[in-house]
Amino acid sequence: MDQTLSATDPFAPLAGDPDEALTDIFGFPSFRPGQREVIDAVVDGEDTIVVMPTGSGKSLCYMLPACVTPGLVIAVSPLIALMKDQTDALEEFGIPATFINSSLPWPEQRRRLDAIRLGAYKLVLVAPERFRNDAFMRAISGLPIGIFAIDEAHCISAWGHDFRPDYLNLGAVRKTLGEPTTLALTATATTEVQKDMALQLDLEAPKVVVSGFERPNLFFEVYSARRRAEKFARLEAAVNQVEEGSILVYCATRKQVNRVSDKLREGGHHPAIYHAGLSDQKRDEIQDAFMAGDAPLLVATNAFGMGVDKSDVRLIVHFNIPGSVEAYYQEAGRAGRDSEDAHCLLLYNRNDLRIHEFFIENSFPDPSVVKGVWSQLQRHGTGTHHLDAEMLADHLNRGGRSRDKIHPWAVESALRLLQRGGHIEFGVRSSMPWIAVQDLARERDLRVDWEDLKTRRQIEERHLDQATRYATGSSCRQDYLVRYFSESLGSKDGCGHCDMCCGVPDYGGPSQRQEKIICRDEPAILLKKLLSGVARCRGRWGAHAVAGMLRGSKAKKILQGRLDQLSTYGLLSNLRQRDLVRLLDVLGRLRLTEQNTHGCISLSDRGKKLMTSSDPLPPDVEKYLLRHVSSVPSPSTTSSSDNGKKEKYFKRSTPAAKTGTDDVNDTYLRTLRLHREGKDFREIAEKRGLTTSSVLRHLMVLAHNGYELDLEKHADGKLLPELRDIAEDWEPGDPLKELKESLTTPCNYSELKLNLAIMLSER
Ligand code: ADP
Ligand code: MG
Repeated sequence: MDQTLSATDPFAPLAGDPDEALTDIFGFPSFRPGQREVIDAVVDGEDTIVVMPTGSGKSLCYMLPACVTPGLVIAVSPLIALMKDQTDALEEFGIPATFINSSLPWPEQRRRLDAIRLGAYKLVLVAPERFRNDAFMRAISGLPIGIFAIDEAHCISAWGHDFRPDYLNLGAVRKTLGEPTTLALTATATTEVQKDMALQLDLEAPKVVVSGFERPNLFFEVYSARRRAEKFARLEAAVNQVEEGSILVYCATRKQVNRVSDKLREGGHHPAIYHAGLSDQKRDEIQDAFMAGDAPLLVATNAFGMGVDKSDVRLIVHFNIPGSVEAYYQEAGRAGRDSEDAHCLLLYNRNDLRIHEFFIENSFPDPSVVKGVWSQLQRHGTGTHHLDAEMLADHLNRGGRSRDKIHPWAVESALRLLQRGGHIEFGVRSSMPWIAVQDLARERDLRVDWEDLKTRRQIEERHLDQATRYATGSSCRQDYLVRYFSESLGSKDGCGHCDMCCGVPDYGGPSQRQEKIICRDEPAILLKKLLSGVARCRGRWGAHAVAGMLRGSKAKKILQGRLDQLSTYGLLSNLRQRDLVRLLDVLGRLRLTEQNTHGCISLSDRGKKLMTSSDPLPPDVEKYLLRHVSSVPSPSTTSSSDNGKKEKYFKRSTPAAKTGTDDVNDTYLRTLRLHREGKDFREIAEKRGLTTSSVLRHLMVLAHNGYELDLEKHADGKLLPELRDIAEDWEPGDPLKELKESLTTPCNYSELKLNLAIMLSER
């Protein structure tokens, strides 16, 4: 573009690069997972499909590119009610933005269209039907459209759960706009829906970024209950575990909501309830109370939750299975938004499927029901009649031959189909129901899309089936959920935070979820110590005795058996009895040991070979071991007695007002392990699916907590002297921005954090 032109170009970029825009315009310290990748692709002009959960920050993926690329960004969203808030937020960031929708009076629309044409805005937010509006199309024609962003893009696919016909037009709109860089965003799209999105928008090999579905702080559990009493018992046990924060219990029906809340009340709890049957005012009140923390235990139907973003929900129980994995993920995903541990429990009972089957059957009625309703109406002839679904259902059931009663709900669905075909109108006037029959079409001439009806029913059935599979499956829950949204993710070797990978949480006792065992030895060394211990016991002792011997126990049984005389006595004195028993159990599952009928353990052939081999561990052994063990040499400040003193599951160890000096938890230790394997922070970020910024923060916190790190080789040494000078007392959690501004050595945030980590590790 001509230089002089671009200097006055109303659509010129507002910031130099994404990093600058992030901090200077939006004021965020770092990108969230996935954001950077999407933004880079969009800025490079690549068509991109983004699947990230609600609340993960999808909007930034088009708002930020709007700031750093030339041209106008057109963003499409079906949620007219939110448009004003969104553009207000943009204006607050200093980004000229506006929206146009039917809520605006025409003169105001006119004014905005003129302003768009003059280049007053970088971003325009519209609903999909806006592209059918000539005035709007005229206003944007000829303008340089930089990015075409489509929010809630799953609405374009009939396979999604929220199909909107207006979205189908967007493929053609994209062509009309000259095929600008296209960004399709959604929180919920299976791989099938993703493909459909690309097809409908005619995107050729778009980049697909699926991110944020792994929620490592959420513990997923499914409890199969045979009777309702078992569900109540488990529900209460789970509720009783929560000491702070909020709890949400989802039920499939209003009746269940009342029943569950009564039961909880009997147990001495004070639940609030929420469902669509309550008045608007009541619902608003309850929602406000929940958000304010005044109703920390809420029993609700799925009517609750849209737009609810309470960060400290610690437990979400589904008392009944939801109708789809999407719905489950969306609802359960409201837990632990603050990244602290939270628990998602699904109480499964086969009978609950009937609720959904009933819903499906009546929402997508059999053609015979639709035809039956039509023939009833024909008897009344054309014109308006005081009838409603209930009366029609009554008639049908009285005269019907079928033994299955037709539910008024199914009749209502049939009426809607007939209305869509233009055969009837219906409604309620002055509390009198009416149906206006427009014609007397023969059954076979009905304008009802039977194929579509069938397909949509099948889609719902499939969604239910997939949810059932989640509930009844026997593999990693997190993996199932993540794979559901993208084949390319998941299939990790166990997530370490679901009942399938870690076992059911112990609701009664003090020890909760199976934490990884923190141990000073590298996995290979640990394994050898364990195997040697087993070997020395010569197949005469069970796991408890072997564990006691390795721990250096002075129990009578150990001393009497002279196990304290063995060379391996006390070899693993830094581990607890139950950790050692668990590890010995792991050896058994790896077929490294065998157990005789008396429960005595000895080495298998494989175990013997491994014990004497100097080769690296076979991958399956190492992987499995690492599921149970986090191998971290103790830092100087941490004594071995700290083993197992990790924060308890369900209990928050950090105060609500977070400082940056977090406790070193599992996620930090995983970073540490990769660091010790020699990976640099970028590689660690990639491997762990984190941002480099998070990894650098981990390293700072680790250094601050006394873990030895080897970072000097990654830095060029320019920044360090000045940091030592001016940031002597700096600690993780102290503001970075001020520090960065007071430095005379130029640097970016990554360099700064890296050097801070080095400085902290010198202390
Ligand atoms: P989504 O559309 O994916 O549901 P939003 O785009 O509405 O999520 O973002 C949710 C919240 O997260 C917003 O308040 C937004 O300002 C915030 N947010 C987005 N990106 C970041 C970031 N990198 N750092 C901090 N907050 C962010
Ligand atoms: Mg959004």
